[in-house]
Amino acid sequence: MAARDDPKPTPMMAQYLALREEAGDALLFYRMGDFFELFFEDAKRAAAILDIALTTRGEHGGQAIPMCGVPVHSAESYLARLIKAGCRVAIAEQVETPDEAKARAKREGTPSSKALVGRAIVRLVTAGTLTEEALLEPRRANVLVALAELRGTVGIAAIDVSTGAMVLEECAADQLGAALARISPSEIILPEASPREGGDLRPEGETFTEVPAFAGTRDMVIHRPRSTFASDAGAERLKALHGVATLDAFGAFSRAMLAAAGGLVSYLDHVGRGTLPLLLPPVVRESGGTMAMDAATRGSLEILESAQGGRAGSLIGAVDRCVTGAGSRLLAEDLSAPLLDAAAIEARLALVQFWRDRPIERAQLRDILRAIPDLGRALGRVVAGRGSPRDLGQLRDGLSEAMRLHHWLSAAPDKPALLDQVIARLTGHGALTDWLARALVPSPPTERSGGGFIADGYDAALDELRATSGDARRAIAAMEARYREETGIASLKIRHNGVLGYFIEVPARHADALMAPESGFTHRQTMAGAVRFNSLKLHEEAARIAEAGGHALAAEEAHFEELVAAVVEAREAIAATAAALARLDVGAGNAERAAEGDWCRPAIAEDAGLAITAGRHPVVEAALAKTGERFVANDCSLAQDNRLWLIGGPNMGGKSTFLRQNALIVLLAQAGCFVPASAARIGLVDRLFSRVGAADNLARGRSTFMVEMVETAAILAQATNRSFVILDEVGRGTSTYDGLALAWAVAEAVHSQIACRCLFATHYHELARLAETCEALSLHHVRAREWQGDLVLLHELADGPADRSYGLAVARLAGVPAPVVARAKTVLEKLEATRAATGGIAAGLGDLPLFAALAAEPAPASPEQQLAEALRNADLDALTPREALDLLYDWKRALP
Ligand code: ADP
Repeated sequence: MAARDDPKPTPMMAQYLALREEAGDALLFYRMGDFFELFFEDAKRAAAILDIALTTRGEHGGQAIPMCGVPVHSAESYLARLIKAGCRVAIAEQVETPDEAKARAKREGTPSSKALVGRAIVRLVTAGTLTEEALLEPRRANVLVALAELRGTVGIAAIDVSTGAMVLEECAADQLGAALARISPSEIILPEASPREGGDLRPEGETFTEVPAFAGTRDMVIHRPRSTFASDAGAERLKALHGVATLDAFGAFSRAMLAAAGGLVSYLDHVGRGTLPLLLPPVVRESGGTMAMDAATRGSLEILESAQGGRAGSLIGAVDRCVTGAGSRLLAEDLSAPLLDAAAIEARLALVQFWRDRPIERAQLRDILRAIPDLGRALGRVVAGRGSPRDLGQLRDGLSEAMRLHHWLSAAPDKPALLDQVIARLTGHGALTDWLARALVPSPPTERSGGGFIADGYDAALDELRATSGDARRAIAAMEARYREETGIASLKIRHNGVLGYFIEVPARHADALMAPESGFTHRQTMAGAVRFNSLKLHEEAARIAEAGGHALAAEEAHFEELVAAVVEAREAIAATAAALARLDVGAGNAERAAEGDWCRPAIAEDAGLAITAGRHPVVEAALAKTGERFVANDCSLAQDNRLWLIGGPNMGGKSTFLRQNALIVLLAQAGCFVPASAARIGLVDRLFSRVGAADNLARGRSTFMVEMVETAAILAQATNRSFVILDEVGRGTSTYDGLALAWAVAEAVHSQIACRCLFATHYHELARLAETCEALSLHHVRAREWQGDLVLLHELADGPADRSYGLAVARLAGVPAPVVARAKTVLEKLEATRAATGGIAAGLGDLPLFAALAAEPAPASPEQQLAEALRNADLDALTPREALDLLYDWKRALP
């Protein structure tokens, strides 16, 4: 780039460096002809990520400049990989043609040979602001979030830029992690940390980056000037955008929400360089409107992504039967935010039921939906100024199909209310679709610069221009035939290329005849085997084509702008139709899933019960089905007086699966889906918690036991008596004594303090003794049997405590060598002998002042009274001989 030994940067280098400065921490794509070039550190970084050649070009400061480049026509796929790798990219385009640059140079008095084409950053491409089809996953929303804190309340502004859906909400600072886990943004914008100055700012250096503690988005946190997060400016901006005098019609927005919205819109302005994407009127999300789930719960239930990452193995992977990307995105939203309002849930369930009961119509509907383009995203591109003629074609096709659906569905009898609402939003675009249908060719191209997308017959002047260039093309074809005849050269051809335009070409051996001065041909170029000529007549016809072509392109461009303006005008109605189609797809898709797996419609109740008959885990069942194995269905029945199930049994016996299937069934039911069970009655759950003992989470790095305890503490702080908690081997991550003690205390607190529904899986037999003091706790186990020396796991839930541990049998099953298992058996026998003698590790718990008893019991009963009470309460049928013996020892020791 810079000339050798030149102390001053060349004009191009100066231009590059200025743009580089402007791009900040983004990579700079610097347009040079048909390539985007990257230089210096950008080049090194991009070459490594993209695995493309790193070369050098020129020198700067005595060093060769590293460089790499990507072709403009395939830039999208490279952009996609850079964004995925966590980069942001600034696109610097040429904003004038070389001719314009020369003209400008002349005006400015610089030699035109030195004229440098002007370049400017036209856009920042960031993970949260994508609209291009190639850069987006069709089945995943792509959400950008801005956060602003005012006096302990965090305003959250979220937008899916690809469809324009904008949601404002607020939450307490300690709930931010859960909110972000629900939204799952791909980019987060925060105010820059600033010195403490007034009550509503955090201490210096303290930023939100520490709060959202979940993986994946950390790279995508971007800080913007605090001044852009002003609530009054945010409100003004929204009013101006939507042309309203007050925002009241959209909802009641708090100052924190408006501050976040201000930061969001200002960032969109910044990355779009003044071109805003589609922004639909903001919607307020009421806090407490949906079931609360924190990040740990979402992670352990693998709702949208499995623990390995990706949809395979996740809940949505097992449930989603939508046939459109928009349907899948809406289903993901439903599953991320299950409802609390029984009427709203029933409305969704009724829609599923409607399609469940009509298999033939459902298949027809799904065929129609499958062919409908992604209206929301096409609209997003068009409004963002990145629309193509193809996007307009998609809007035309999608809207007219929606109208067809409207007519078809309107006639259907017995429609549920939600279907009526949906149908009403499928229509109302007649004038626009007619216009698009008249104006566009049947399949418009993705490139608009080449023209050819406006239909014949739409514009008489355009037709004439096309006729002119068509005539001229035919004239050229006729000319070729005539020249062949006149010159007697059968191999003469009239051809066209980008450099010469039209020319006449003959093989070299025939060239002499055309070289003659009076031949009427002028020589243009000599190639290896051919010579190229021009003629006056050809030149005239070529000029006619060029002129008519140029005018035709300009006419098409003008029509394009006009159509885009009409679409922009109708954006809210189009977005509503897109949302209605998505809701239809979700309803029919859930019905399809229910029919496929024989799922049932859950009954929604307002009490704190939970009754599931023959429940199944959708993901495990699907995985087993692949290997031809059968999933064993299990019941679960919780009520106020039997709200905590303690579940024991061998490892691999199916405890985790059982816990999760019940949590997932609750989640699906409140999301408005049918559930994998033969019957289900769900008392509405306000918060769902799922915790897994640390041993399963080794990959996390931080002290896993610490994580486990932090997460468990959150349950104790946040759960209510309407919550549902599943605890899987909590306490496992530490020593036996600590673990047992913690598990014991947590189970007691959940039972007696929170008094919510809970499934608690544990391998600590000792916990069974909680049943003595916790009146609403019952004991259950997953069944196993030893048969001819082998362990058979039945995956079947039964009442009562687990009779014994099958650790050694599981070890044998897992392939631990026989001598090792034999040795373990000897050790175990010793240990068990000690336990028998001492009463085991929980022996001391007999005289533990029990949690539940702490407050209630003023005068303690005498030891004799306690013993008599314990004897009365003992369920002798539920005891194994060994436990009976333990109990006797305890009682004997308890006597004074
Ligand atoms: P645990 O938590 O008791 O160690 P898991 O729930 O992890 O056991 O189950 C272990 C394996 O057993 C699962 O991966 C699955 O293959 C199988 N399994 C679990 N539950 C069932 C069931 N109800 N029916 C059939 N197979 C099951």
